[in-house]
Amino acid sequence: MAGGRRAECALEGGPRGPMGAREALEEYREAMRDASGLRAAARAARAASAGRVVSFSKKAFVSVTTLCRDVCSYCAYRTGPGGEAFMPERAVRALLENARRHGCVEALLVAGERPEERYAEAASWLRREGHGSTAEYLARCSEIALECGLFPHTNAGNLRRDELRLLRETNMSVGMMLETSSGRLGGAGMPHEAAPSKRPEARVRALEDAGREGIATTTGVLVGIGETPAEAIESIAEIGRIAEAGGHIQEVIVQNFRPEGLTAMARAPPAGAAHHEAIVAITRLMLPSMNVQAPPNLTPRSYDSLLGAGINDWGGISPVTPDHVNPEYAWPEIREVEARTRAAGLEFRCRFPAYPERLAGLPARLREAALAVADADGYVAGPRWRTGP
Ligand code: SF4
Repeated sequence: MAGGRRAECALEGGPRGPMGAREALEEYREAMRDASGLRAAARAARAASAGRVVSFSKKAFVSVTTLCRDVCSYCAYRTGPGGEAFMPERAVRALLENARRHGCVEALLVAGERPEERYAEAASWLRREGHGSTAEYLARCSEIALECGLFPHTNAGNLRRDELRLLRETNMSVGMMLETSSGRLGGAGMPHEAAPSKRPEARVRALEDAGREGIATTTGVLVGIGETPAEAIESIAEIGRIAEAGGHIQEVIVQNFRPEGLTAMARAPPAGAAHHEAIVAITRLMLPSMNVQAPPNLTPRSYDSLLGAGINDWGGISPVTPDHVNPEYAWPEIREVEARTRAAGLEFRCRFPAYPERLAGLPARLREAALAVADADGYVAGPRWRTGP
């Protein structure tokens, strides 16, 4: 059994080099019959790179605008025009002050892709408030987050280099999911048909630009939206190439698709657990020293199976805001995630939006603010996040 041999090699012989795409596909096929060897090898690779630590980020989700110029078939975040185009400053501040009282560390600032290019009301709102673009307003929201004692991480689609430079001053990191490197998924009737920003060449260029601007970047794949196993594996290989060239990719999310009501894919089947977990394990083995994350709310009560597939991060969990991207899937209680992580023999730590190894490279303002509340290992010290009513 291919997976069994790998487990033996990794467990007895110590860590080995990254798995290639061709081998990964063989291992995937084997895992569909018996995943035990692949999972054991992934756990061994995690132990070699991350030790026993599994982290999370205590965050507040700030939905800055749900308007978006793109239309992805699975998206439950995007709305049409009608209400106020952007969350106003006073609401951002009120949300973040409350989050700070609850011990939140990360301000996750989320916006649709360049809404001002599609909606006149978005463009006029920005003009009225004195901002030239969504990115400029996100920079203002990031300042507010810092004033409230939180550390920003912005997720606003494909950012240009000038926008990345602007956000780099206040954001510890940015998020841009590759989702898939398969152009096939942008074809007629496919999930990205009406989403030009999700064309692989556009996404890859934006991710590479983040490397050129030296900003820590979280990316990842979305599995179960119609990709083949080979396409999922090629997407991970593409992320590996970008990470190798830029040195800026700090984390890879392996997110499983879950259908949400009122979307075009509401009746599509969710990503199968076996497929998702095999891709998690393969990500760990293809990118052995990368931080690998899977969200705990999209597969409820899946703690053991995801930990067993080699993740070392649970991503952001919020005690004060819903997951606006997946509104039907509530985040679990942090104490439950902590208990299940510890029950698996692992350590549970709160991280900043930048991983400990990235803190030294931050602008001085962000680095000093983080170090003031960090522990000796670069994680958030307990008194900072274990607070709240
Ligand atoms: S997933 Fe992102 S890019 Fe696609 S429609 Fe939703 S907000 Fe826009």
